[in-house]
Amino acid sequence: MLHGELTCVELVEHYLDKIKENAQLNAFVEIYAEEALSRAISLDVRIKQDPSSCGELIGVIIGIKDVICYKDHHVTAASNILKDFKSIYTATAVQRLIDEDAIIIGSLNCDEFAMGSSNENSVYGNVLNALDETRVPGGSSGGSAVAVQAGLCMVSLGSDTGGSVRQPADFCGIIGMKPGYGRISRYGLLAYASSFDQIGIFSMNTTDLAIVLSVISGSDEFDSTCTDSPVPDYLSLLETDKTFNIAYFPESLDHPSLDKEIKNNITELISTLKEKGHRITPISFEYLDHIVPAYYVLTTAEASSNLSRYDGVKYGYRTKQNITDLNELYKKTRSEGFGKEVKRRIMLGTFVLSTGYYDAYYAKAQQIRKMIVDKTTSIFSQHDLIIMPTVPSPAFRFGEKSNDAIEMFLGDLYTVYANLAGIPGISLPLFKHSNGMPFGLQAMSDKLGETSLLQFANQLLKEKIPHGNEK
Ligand code: GLN
Repeated sequence: MLHGELTCVELVEHYLDKIKENAQLNAFVEIYAEEALSRAISLDVRIKQDPSSCGELIGVIIGIKDVICYKDHHVTAASNILKDFKSIYTATAVQRLIDEDAIIIGSLNCDEFAMGSSNENSVYGNVLNALDETRVPGGSSGGSAVAVQAGLCMVSLGSDTGGSVRQPADFCGIIGMKPGYGRISRYGLLAYASSFDQIGIFSMNTTDLAIVLSVISGSDEFDSTCTDSPVPDYLSLLETDKTFNIAYFPESLDHPSLDKEIKNNITELISTLKEKGHRITPISFEYLDHIVPAYYVLTTAEASSNLSRYDGVKYGYRTKQNITDLNELYKKTRSEGFGKEVKRRIMLGTFVLSTGYYDAYYAKAQQIRKMIVDKTTSIFSQHDLIIMPTVPSPAFRFGEKSNDAIEMFLGDLYTVYANLAGIPGISLPLFKHSNGMPFGLQAMSDKLGETSLLQFANQLLKEKIPHGNEK
């Protein structure tokens, strides 16, 4: 990775300085300064004394989203309801990083329980986009994106239930990848919607991404939804001049909510890709207007169940009011502990699961999901990749959408598809808008097709296909 001749201590010191210099970005919830330094000291000793024992990620400085457990460290989901709570075990993904000698430098700010698209729903306050501090970094993994964007760590982990890695990567001009469902263990990831959640990776280049993905992927006895398929050595497969069979949905480019410049840039890119020998086919996708509603019905239903564990009895926040009735204790604790967006989703999810509405909403959304999965399987029987925009517009300003939940939800138009279908997706920082902000191209592959995604990403980013007003 990036560090060449530097010692681990020098590296940690460099990143701690950068974090301090950029404190106003509010990317970190907690910085593990002393611990990272003492780990660096012992890694430097090992590099000198026994270099052959060093892991693949020796000295790689990594930040983790505040929904991923690391034993004896706080994990709060940016929520008051988990204020001061410390993890009692370490997430499999984090353990695998540590086993390969990475240095975990801190936990990263996010929307409360990973619910949001702008990082405006965090109990710790907004994370600022380092390219324009008046604009949102995206969400929900806003801190993870900005930490990599601003050079506060080399790589970071986020979570992606409906776009929370790809969308902030798009807004911040970096790479964000959500592997297919089951590629990375969810053990130790605080659940939002379990059949959608997946840990994802932010990086500045495909090499770092490939190495970290290889390290953290693979079966895990603690997560039965995690696939047993062997993990490819992504790094060795990265370089290829192969051409791909690519599908795109004309409906995604003709959608009225899509910014015209994004549309034009992606349309031009499609022509360039054709000239380079890729086969590109338009495939009609009739479900585009159904995917956001289906996503919000299903994920809020799952969230209403997953978040019922935060009741003030077993752990986490408990109301300070003097209450003797158990139901009152639940009510007060949850009313005080959860923020507005989380409450909205718990209520919505409870509603769609309730008698009389279950068939009309939850069952119908499940049927839509099934149709989407079937359609996706049929597309990938003929194609390697699907491409589309990552987000309909570039990073917006703070407050611009926070009073209109529907408008905020509609911004997830292009990202929730991959989670509904359980397929991998990546956002590639290829374009720049005339307003100065970056935006990405999203590519998706079949389940377990991460290798093609990385190869395609590597080709595009290496060639630096000219884009937007940079031409
Ligand atoms: N923006 C989406 C939402 O608010 C996605 C969140 C996520 O992927 N965690 O649900």
